[in-house]
Amino acid sequence: MSNVIAHRCPSCHGGSISPLESRKNDHAFVACNTCDLIFVDPMPSDDALSDFYDNYHKSAQYLSKLDSKIRRAKKRIRSVNWLKKPGTFIDVGCNVGFAVEAARLLGFDASGIDIDANAIEVAQEQFSQAKFAVQSVQDLAESGEKFDFIYCSEVIEHLPELDSFFAALVKCLSEGGVLYITTPDNGHFSLPNDFSKLVEWTSVRPPEHLMYFTKSSVAPLLKRHGLRSVKMPFSFKPTLKIIAKVKG
Ligand SMILES: [Zn+2]
Repeated sequence: MSNVIAHRCPSCHGGSISPLESRKNDHAFVACNTCDLIFVDPMPSDDALSDFYDNYHKSAQYLSKLDSKIRRAKKRIRSVNWLKKPGTFIDVGCNVGFAVEAARLLGFDASGIDIDANAIEVAQEQFSQAKFAVQSVQDLAESGEKFDFIYCSEVIEHLPELDSFFAALVKCLSEGGVLYITTPDNGHFSLPNDFSKLVEWTSVRPPEHLMYFTKSSVAPLLKRHGLRSVKMPFSFKPTLKIIAKVKG
């Protein structure tokens, strides 16, 4: 683990960062004084993270209640795409692939990528009619392929760095395409404001979750990557839903 304290907020790039007193799982947190993003600091090294994910094995857990997960993903995709014909769809960080299957059932040309080879193997077994690949979004962006609908659910909070990921997402978006992101909403009305209390929430779990977003702390990141017409609809649950386009 490196001991370098972040000098720049990963979302707004502001340089005014304050340490927080509360710790969890031996990790410390800091808050950006400009956009209020809370993030783990120091970030775990790439080696520490790959060791952690080598023992992650959450695919079995994700396989439970598969039918209701497919139904929920269908509802989400339909709500965003209701005026449009289904085009090309990719789920970035698709895990066992239920959102890909949901999109396929809605008539999309649907595919999913994940860096977890085990999850992709399970996804391909479960949903043999959809397309899956072990690939990072950065590598996908290099290929030049573009998509009308990019779905990225519960991924960004796991990342130690956001800019290369978002640059790649935007590069994979076709003109007029939609980006749909979800992440835990740490600013949700049902949660305490005070981090010393919020830290008890199950979604605060480093090193699995490294960044803790709110509507206001994710906004500068989206803006810097050229994402416009950003909508973050109201949700009864503490899940931040972000719908964005590059133009429009
Ligand atoms: Zn910030």
